[in-house]
Amino acid sequence: MRRDPLRMAVEKLKADFPGKSYSWVKRALLRLGDVREVRDDLYLVEGRRELGDWKSLYQVWFSQREGKWYCTCYFSTFGMRRKRDICTHVAAVMLFRRYKKALERLQRKRVYVAEAEVECRQRLTANGELYVKPVGVRDLTFFANPRYRVLVISDAKRIVIKCGSYEVAEAEGEEVPLATARFLAERFYES
Ligand SMILES: [Zn+2]
Repeated sequence: MRRDPLRMAVEKLKADFPGKSYSWVKRALLRLGDVREVRDDLYLVEGRRELGDWKSLYQVWFSQREGKWYCTCYFSTFGMRRKRDICTHVAAVMLFRRYKKALERLQRKRVYVAEAEVECRQRLTANGELYVKPVGVRDLTFFANPRYRVLVISDAKRIVIKCGSYEVAEAEGEEVPLATARFLAERFYES
């Protein structure tokens, strides 16, 4: 399951600009935290000396007329070199927008959640993200018959938990927004 929104955003950026180098993508990624959205078509990107910036702030905007993104660095003395290419300020904005979209998609995403208690002496797995905590570790019987409380977040409604290669539990997942599932997973270890 590829749920990490940042990874999704980076992969989308790479796919949209297949000719771009790893270092171009990396620089965009380094700038991600420096991007501020003013409007949907106007952004501010803080300059970073270590990335070759000579200004403390760059403006990145979308020109409807030209149908493309511009950056203030295109209009400086050294800008002509950058203008032929897409500067990493613009790349950072593109990454930011893709990241935001991926996050929003994730917020809307629905998943299935199930909890169960299982006995297992091998490795526990499930068809989803698995959260495991031992039950009754202080009991002398624990090591003979180790029991675990498990929580699974899955894309599938039918959730299957395996111990080694054996199915030890099967449950119909409850449909919830992913954010709720994450919240439950955090609480799972606290309770
Ligand atoms: Zn720029």
